[in-house]
Amino acid sequence: MNCIFCKIVNGEIPSSKVYEDDKILAFDDINPCAPVHVVIIPKEHTITCADDITEDNCHIVGYIFSKIPEIAKAKGLTNGYRIVNNCGEDGAQTIFHIHFHLLGGEKLTEKLC
Ligand code: AMP
Ligand code: ZN
Repeated sequence: MNCIFCKIVNGEIPSSKVYEDDKILAFDDINPCAPVHVVIIPKEHTITCADDITEDNCHIVGYIFSKIPEIAKAKGLTNGYRIVNNCGEDGAQTIFHIHFHLLGGEKLTEKLC
């Protein structure tokens, strides 16, 4: 599969790893939108975007969220942060392997909602 995030998981493309376990990987975004910008992905490419989440596969999404406080702490985010998921064309998603952006390290002023 020609997926950049799968290639990061299998080591074909290098990344700056922030957190890893048997289910998920977190790494610094190559094109950061904030002083701290981490991408968090499930290792398995089973869900392409939020629109593919079902009752049967949603456990990994909850698992990712359960690890976000630890990942945020590891990056020194002690004063809050933002989690973003871009879904599909209108959501401006570019990589179709579900992922969550963890943004922080400054007061984020560009509020879309
Ligand atoms: P999205 O636009 O929500 O699909 O997010 C994809 C993100 O992946 C963007 O923020 C990119 O900067 C990031 N990205 C693309 N290639 C790499 C890479 N090789 N290493 C780290 N981040 C990447
Ligand atoms: Zn993938």
